[in-house]
Amino acid sequence: MTRIGVLGAGQLAKMLSVAAYPLGLSTVCYDPTPDACAKQVANVITADYLNQDTLKDFASKVDVITFETENITAEIFSILADCDKFYPSKNALLIAQDRLLEKQCLNQLGIPTAPFTDINSLESLHAAVTEFGMPCILKTRRGGYDGKGQAVIHLQDDIALAWEQLGNRPLILEGFVPFNTEVSMLAVRGSNGDIKTYPLVENIHKEGILRESYAPFENHHLEKLAIKNMHKLLKHLDYVGVLAIEFFVTKNQLIANEIAPRVHNTGHWTIEGAVTSQFENHMRAIAGFPVGDCSVRGYSCMVNMISEEVAASEVLQMAGAHYHSYGKTARANRKLGHITLCHDNKTQLNLMRKQIRQLIS
Ligand code: AMP
Repeated sequence: MTRIGVLGAGQLAKMLSVAAYPLGLSTVCYDPTPDACAKQVANVITADYLNQDTLKDFASKVDVITFETENITAEIFSILADCDKFYPSKNALLIAQDRLLEKQCLNQLGIPTAPFTDINSLESLHAAVTEFGMPCILKTRRGGYDGKGQAVIHLQDDIALAWEQLGNRPLILEGFVPFNTEVSMLAVRGSNGDIKTYPLVENIHKEGILRESYAPFENHHLEKLAIKNMHKLLKHLDYVGVLAIEFFVTKNQLIANEIAPRVHNTGHWTIEGAVTSQFENHMRAIAGFPVGDCSVRGYSCMVNMISEEVAASEVLQMAGAHYHSYGKTARANRKLGHITLCHDNKTQLNLMRKQIRQLIS
């Protein structure tokens, strides 16, 4: 049985582990957090990532290593230097971890992004704000997620405040994209180079945190553009596994915001809403199996349960609603689970969406 090592043991590792077993694969996850939720379904080694002996022992016990977290540092890579089966590649991860390298890579491939520049002093920040105009967004190059590690600059006075808040780390400034909506595309590339793409999904964020993903986002022109961009990126990175690109939609154009070299929250709907889920496809790709059909089964809407969970008994009264609790302790702004609503009729799905929104709020 092929054993898959997963760095990280949160909800993504949990859902990857659940998808692994029917394929005849098993997972061993690795996470420093004592109550990591993948423990409910998989073997989890609890240790610091920089504990050389434990990490090497973990690597020696598995056939392939993947990850659910992007916070894998150069030190962790050097401990795992002997591991040649690391999917997606270290190169893809290094690019996706750093907003500057990520945007440079996208632009090099002809994929449009917001204007950006690296910032290393208050003077360079002032100069870049003058160039891009306001509003603009100062972001940490590494480690930001769910809207953390960024500051919007609306006024001259915000410049010094943003620098005070973030200036102790490597930064980039981005021009503000006046978008109509936000979408993402997920795709999988197999070890034989086969690529399959899921349809575009529309995403609703609040306070920087994803609230809902709706599939499919029906726009033939943008879908074709996204597929073209996705193919270019996956081939360039010689990628194996699932990858997500988040885009802003402006008029008839897609502006790439970021890439995630892993299974992604905007793809959770695929468990029930697509022929092959993103979790199964990631496992298939890294285990060397053929990748599966990414077509939709009707319309789907994924709604995150954040800060608190709605009772399963309430949600499941609704036909076509699927409940996923991650088994995590409630905390403000923490993703605790998600609900996926499925229907083959768009109007009916939107009615279900309204009902769930009432329960959630
Ligand atoms: P990020 O952490 O880069 O995914 O940003 C979180 C959210 O901030 C995005 O989903 C957008 O809603 C908003 N945002 C980020 N960058 C920009 C930008 N350059 N222009 C407009 N909105 C942005």
